[in-house]
Amino acid sequence: MDTYLVYGLGRSGIATANLLVKNDEHVILYDDDKTRLAEIYKSGLVPKSCEIIDKLCAKTLCIVHCIVLSPGVAVSKRVAELIKKFNIMVLGELNLGAYFCPAPIYAVTGTNGKTTTCTLLYDMLLNSKIRAHLVGNIGTPITSKVDSVAPSDSVVCEVSSFQLEHPTGLNFKASAVLNLAPDHLDRYVNFTDYVDTKRKILDCTHGKIFLNYDDPIVRDFGKNRTDCEYFSLNPLPEGVEGIYYKDGAIYRQDSPLLSLKKCKLLGKHNLYNILCATSLALYAGADAESIERALNKAKLPSHRLEFAGKINGVRYYDDSKATNIASTTVALECFEKNAVVLMLGGSDKGEDFAGFLNNMPENVRKIVAFGRVGKKIYKLAKKRKLDTVYAPRLGEAFMLAKNSANEGDVVLLSPACASFDEFDSFEERGDFFKSLVGRNEAKN
Ligand code: ADP
Repeated sequence: MDTYLVYGLGRSGIATANLLVKNDEHVILYDDDKTRLAEIYKSGLVPKSCEIIDKLCAKTLCIVHCIVLSPGVAVSKRVAELIKKFNIMVLGELNLGAYFCPAPIYAVTGTNGKTTTCTLLYDMLLNSKIRAHLVGNIGTPITSKVDSVAPSDSVVCEVSSFQLEHPTGLNFKASAVLNLAPDHLDRYVNFTDYVDTKRKILDCTHGKIFLNYDDPIVRDFGKNRTDCEYFSLNPLPEGVEGIYYKDGAIYRQDSPLLSLKKCKLLGKHNLYNILCATSLALYAGADAESIERALNKAKLPSHRLEFAGKINGVRYYDDSKATNIASTTVALECFEKNAVVLMLGGSDKGEDFAGFLNNMPENVRKIVAFGRVGKKIYKLAKKRKLDTVYAPRLGEAFMLAKNSANEGDVVLLSPACASFDEFDSFEERGDFFKSLVGRNEAKN
């Protein structure tokens, strides 16, 4: 029996503790939030055989064999020194789950589109009668699922950059990288540091790696490797293996594989998600016909360019999941033919708003800036003579947006920021926005 310290008791920490106890390990629990730690222990969500500690000190750490870190945890310098001193192994929850997982794991990473792609891939596999599981950063910890996974199943796993920070033990049958754009710059030293973290997925993959040929940084990941294939919105050059989109269909070399004529997903960015999911699905054994059928009925997950309602001839869209500039940019591309009232703001992740506002598309009629970073966006937009207003909170910002929109316009909540200044999650922010639309629609 080894001693594991589970550091961070969110959903993944709880699942980790349960998995370890089931495997007869000695488990110690710790969370920086002591109240939470006590509540979770009392609630029965973790086995009573777990020990809880309220301090990370030499006395407890000296008996620990391995620390399992939750993705959100930032280890202090003092604890990092103790880890080094006692030569303790540090793993993420995903690494531990991957170790216990008996089935092949198909991993998807990138800055944007991971959840959409994983959801599509999962549906493609199910449609092909492959027993599949959907786990990872998407919200279901892999450690909570491995008990129900059979060796002949397939596991679809969304992988964030945080989960690649400690790659020891990660082992994917195949993986894919969708795109790379500045994000989480509050966590990484700079963009290069973020890209280098994402690059670690290559060394965690023992089969094929699928890369976006149209993203120069992602394409570069395949340099001097023989285990990569590509996907693109243009025919691939001679000698480059992979699939591409042309005239409403997906091709491999000169042969059409499947048609996208009946697929209703909006925007060029979703074509990349479709190509990426299709590459992995084919590799996992799905057939083209079943993939096409899955795509014909595919719907985007909530809060991704989700139609929220219509008030006085104005259409409202909830894109609360757009938490960086790159995702807001693709959202705007989807509404090129409409005047857009754009709601931007929330909490800052170190994004370059000055650069973004310099290139604001002309169809953006007005910017409604809100939240903690809203004041900064408002000032930058004013400087650039863009039509802009500011409100401290989303509720007031919604009213300003509503009053600014004319019949035929689109009001787009695509905030390019995290939600934590006002909400617990992007879901809560999106639900609040949709409730405001719903209430005003009813009054209409
Ligand atoms: P992730 O899981 O990587 O955050 P999601 O599928 O949840 O990705 O989408 C997050 C946001 O990014 C949404 O606003 C969505 O419209 C946008 N998006 C989705 N796919 C892409 C893509 N391939 N490129 C750029 N933005 C995308």
